[in-house]
Amino acid sequence: MTAQYIYAFHKGDGKNKVLLGGKGANLCEMTQIGLNVPPGFVITTEACLDYLQNHQLPEGLMDEVRANIAEIEALSDKKFGDSENPLLVSVRSGSAISMPGMMDTILNLGLNKLTLNGLIEHTGDTRFAYDAYRRFIQLFGKVALGIDDEKFDHHFAEIKRQAGIKADVGLDAEHLRQISELFLQVVQEETGRPFPEDVYEQLELSIKAVFNSWMGKRAVDYRREFHITPKMANGTAVNVVTMVFGNMGNDCATGVGFTRNPGTGVNEMYGEYLVNAQGEDVVAGIRTPKPVQELSNEMPEIYRQLVDLRNKLESHYKEVQDYEYTIERGVLYCLQTRNGKMNAAAMVKTSVDMVAEGLISKEKALLRINPELLEQLLHPQLDPNNKIPSVAQGLPASPGAACGKCVFDADSAEILGRSGQAVILLREETKPEDIHGFFASQGILTSRGGKTSHAAVVARGMGKACVAGAEDIKIDVRARLAVIGDIHIREGDTITIDGSSGLIYLGRIDTIEPKFSEDLKTLLSWADEYAVIKVHANVDTPERAQLAASYGATGIGLCRTERMFNASDRLPLVIDMILANTKEERQEALEKLFPIQRDDFRELFEAMSPYPVTVRLLDPPMHEFLPGEHQLEEEIQALNTYKTMIRGQQVTLDTLGEGSLLPAPFNQLNEELINKAIAKKELMLKKVRELYEVNPMLGHRGVRLGMSYPEIYQMQIRSILEAAAICTKQRKSIMPQIMVPQVITVQELIQVKKYVDQIQQEVESQYGIALDFKFGTMIETVRACTRAGHLAEVAEFFSFGTNDLTQATFSFSREDAENKFLPLYNETGLLEDNPFEVLDAKGVGQLMEMTALAGRKTRPGMKIGICGEQGGHPESIRFCHHIKLDYVSCSAPRIPIARLAAAHAKLLENEYTIG
Ligand code: PEP
Ligand code: MG
Repeated sequence: MTAQYIYAFHKGDGKNKVLLGGKGANLCEMTQIGLNVPPGFVITTEACLDYLQNHQLPEGLMDEVRANIAEIEALSDKKFGDSENPLLVSVRSGSAISMPGMMDTILNLGLNKLTLNGLIEHTGDTRFAYDAYRRFIQLFGKVALGIDDEKFDHHFAEIKRQAGIKADVGLDAEHLRQISELFLQVVQEETGRPFPEDVYEQLELSIKAVFNSWMGKRAVDYRREFHITPKMANGTAVNVVTMVFGNMGNDCATGVGFTRNPGTGVNEMYGEYLVNAQGEDVVAGIRTPKPVQELSNEMPEIYRQLVDLRNKLESHYKEVQDYEYTIERGVLYCLQTRNGKMNAAAMVKTSVDMVAEGLISKEKALLRINPELLEQLLHPQLDPNNKIPSVAQGLPASPGAACGKCVFDADSAEILGRSGQAVILLREETKPEDIHGFFASQGILTSRGGKTSHAAVVARGMGKACVAGAEDIKIDVRARLAVIGDIHIREGDTITIDGSSGLIYLGRIDTIEPKFSEDLKTLLSWADEYAVIKVHANVDTPERAQLAASYGATGIGLCRTERMFNASDRLPLVIDMILANTKEERQEALEKLFPIQRDDFRELFEAMSPYPVTVRLLDPPMHEFLPGEHQLEEEIQALNTYKTMIRGQQVTLDTLGEGSLLPAPFNQLNEELINKAIAKKELMLKKVRELYEVNPMLGHRGVRLGMSYPEIYQMQIRSILEAAAICTKQRKSIMPQIMVPQVITVQELIQVKKYVDQIQQEVESQYGIALDFKFGTMIETVRACTRAGHLAEVAEFFSFGTNDLTQATFSFSREDAENKFLPLYNETGLLEDNPFEVLDAKGVGQLMEMTALAGRKTRPGMKIGICGEQGGHPESIRFCHHIKLDYVSCSAPRIPIARLAAAHAKLLENEYTIG
């Protein structure tokens, strides 16, 4: 063996998570800072990679294992495979990035017929020994030998049924012995050979199984979903640890804890424990555990030690820890620690608190939070005034409200979720193999388990609402039914869950937008102190502008004026403008639109005062304002049918001689009115057919509209400038910016600038003031990038429209790519990311860098930003900071994320590399 593949806990480098995995590194570190960790060793991730490549363990590895087992034997005073005082070990996975429950673990390894007797003799507890044995056979059978859990579970359930016992604790030693025998038979039947008695063979098979679990479907899916690249974590380490038992009597227990409350961030003892139980009982949610505070009554001395352990962990790691412990016959052991996964509110609070406590710096407080996490804080909450009574309550395991159709298994959740439906996954308890159901669901509801059960931990990590351990709900998966008292909830019924209170409601409940906490304000104000790049918003209405300002936007980077056209009081005017056959007719419609647009802009400027508001002139192809061809055809047909009906009604009344008047509402309508409607629809249909383009996104849109219909752009420019004039007269501090879309040549800009200059003169003399505003262009065509130096002669600012620029650079239709071939490209790794979501720094980014340089060469200090969707994505923001853009602009809910990402970009700028 050339490389060193094994490190004992007292020797391994606690900082080297890549080599030892997070769990292994922490076990080494905890041992070395004097915490009571059971003796053990780590087999490195390099050994795993070697094994996966060569399909055999590295040469000599098992000899090293034997040598390290000998060290453990000396430390623990037990012997592996011994008939009198046997050493049992756990074999645990652990990669550089924590992937809870995604890989395999085996407990109680080292048991066989011989050592079992030794264990009975040594502990004097036959029941305990058989319980350990049957657990080991099943876990080893499943993980190392690939036997389905079902094969074992069915025997287990049968013995329980025969004995008339409900809870596992009711089983006595004899039951557990019978179960062990049956389990051994299952192994013989399923594998064609007896259960391995040689403890080193057990160990070798288990090490291989844990290594293999790195490439198991669960783990691979998880890495893909959370973008865990080989650079971040490559292979799993294996930790071989002396077993300590929390299930040897009432002076034993097992528990999990967080050094602070992971739901709220409050600095308090937090966690759960179970007396006389094994660790997996707490995590799997098989029994509902007690809150750790009760331990202070039940085992006061141990509780005191636990408080001490928690304090040592935090002051050493300077980070909230998620730890596991076992109490074996009055001795406390720490089995694991890792950085605690918390929801966003808790992350923010702990960051602010830990700075105040002097534990960490502001930089660390910012950097420890993944910006994307903040999205959770903007999740809807249940309206507190809602009067609908809840029907049950569980534990508030992951905050936020969710509403959706009930499903009872992960596969159904995936199917319904994929079809675009909101679903709530209902399970008794969840297991790691349910992970795909989590991805597809809005929320998770379990009837068993605590706040640290699998469901709770995974949901919190994903920021999904979760209510756990709602024990009043009886879930019958086979009948696709959940029963609460006399209430029956069937698959497909809608329910609402509130992960903040644990309450469950039938039907849909209204939600409200959450408010910014003071802690978040503090944290983001620190972010602004470090950030260089500014954060603007893509908003189109005064209300959204106010929301964006309250989230900390310092400007509007993109107001898509066409969105203002869609309101019901404007659309008919827009349609009239499009249907106009002559310039005069169009002018007439535009004059009606003008005051409406002017008032919109004035309100927008006021809402964002004193920051810049960038208004983009009309961009989309005109047919987007008209109904589709098929719809119009159907409507015309309906109108013709209606006309016939009215005629028929009239004939009916005439025939029966009951007077000539039709009853309401038919008396309002006459054939003439309907004919008028038909004529209008036919005109629209004609126009729709005229406007038809094969590729409308590459067609008559953007500045091309301004060239063909100057009066439209002129009306918009006048609205902007008059709104600015009104605000200026009222001494409001504003900064309007006029932006031209889809530009390819400076000639287009010169043309639009002529309209602007002319209108500016008119407005200034009309209002008797001087206007202060900027004129700029979007950069969203490849030609604009190549002509940037010239465009900057006229444009005072650039804004990258990276939605269109990505479309143009890839030649991928932004309308279709994401539903057609892009998922395949991402899944197979042909492309690492979706370029419409994450800025393609290597391609589109290079065009941007070149453009910014050329623009600023012509116009030094020119303001440049980005307003495509990618502008709210943290990785894209790092790139934009890198090429020295002045601002990113994104939708309102992403502003907090962008502010934090902007600070990260600055703080991590020296480590930045593209790709
Ligand atoms: C863009 O193309 O990036 C952009 C912001 O404009 P739109 O999405 O409206 O085309
Ligand atoms: Mg665009």
